[in-house]
Amino acid sequence: MNNAAMLEKCRRFADQVIPELQGTTYYILDSDALNNESAYTHDELVGWAAQAANVSELLPRYLGADWRGPGPAIFLNLTWLRRHAYPGQFERAVLGVEVHELGHLAFPLRMPGERTPRVASAIAELQDAVVRYSLNPVNLAKPANDEGHDWKWIRRTCHLYVRAAFRGYSLPHLRLLHSGYCDFASQDYLPQLLEEALRMREEPMEAIDALPPLQWLVEQYEADVERLMAEIDDEHPCGVV
Ligand SMILES: [Zn+2]
Repeated sequence: MNNAAMLEKCRRFADQVIPELQGTTYYILDSDALNNESAYTHDELVGWAAQAANVSELLPRYLGADWRGPGPAIFLNLTWLRRHAYPGQFERAVLGVEVHELGHLAFPLRMPGERTPRVASAIAELQDAVVRYSLNPVNLAKPANDEGHDWKWIRRTCHLYVRAAFRGYSLPHLRLLHSGYCDFASQDYLPQLLEEALRMREEPMEAIDALPPLQWLVEQYEADVERLMAEIDDEHPCGVV
C-alpha cells in the first residue's frame, strides 16, 4: 500500500472510530509533508498530534490547494513505520500509532465552537508548550506535569482502541500507551477498561472525558509516573507524542 492510500485509509479509520470527526476539518498527513520544517519531525518520532492553531501557518504552505482551513492534525512517520514494521504489518502498525494520536486529537475537538478565539488560542499555545516541554530532555524528569499523556488520555486512548477492535480492526497494543518517556503498559489499563469501553462505545468521546475518575486508574497512573521518574535518564526522547 503506497503512502497516499495509507493516509486515505487512516482518514476512513478516524471517521469510523470517532464519528464526531466526520464533516469536520482535520488532517492526517505523512511527517514528510512538512519537509522537516517542524521541530517535531525528527526521524525517530513515529507520530504526533497538533492542535489547529499550532499548524495553521505551517500547513497551508505545504498543502497548497489541499488546505481546507484550520484544523487539528496528526502526522505519521510513514517512512519510519514502513522501515520498522514487521513484514506485512505496515498497515496495522500505522493504525496502531494513529489510535494513540487520536487520543490526543479527540479531546480538543469540541473547543472551537465553545470557546472564544482568544481562549482557544491560549489553550493551543499551552498545548504546544506542553509538547515542547515534554520533548525537552531537561524536563523529562517531570512527566507528571505533561497533560498530554495523563490518565484521561490513557482512558480515552483505550476507549478508542476498543472501538477500533469492535469495528473489526486487530491492532497492536503493546506500544499503544508508549511515548518517548511515558512508557505505560497497555496490559495494566486496557483489560480493566474493556467493559466500560464496550458499554460506551457509541457515546461521543466527550462523554468519556466527562466521566468521573476511576480510583484504580489514577492510582495506577500515579504509580507508573513514580516508576518512570525513577527510571528516567537524560537520553534524547523518541517515539510518539
Ligand atoms: Zn502521545
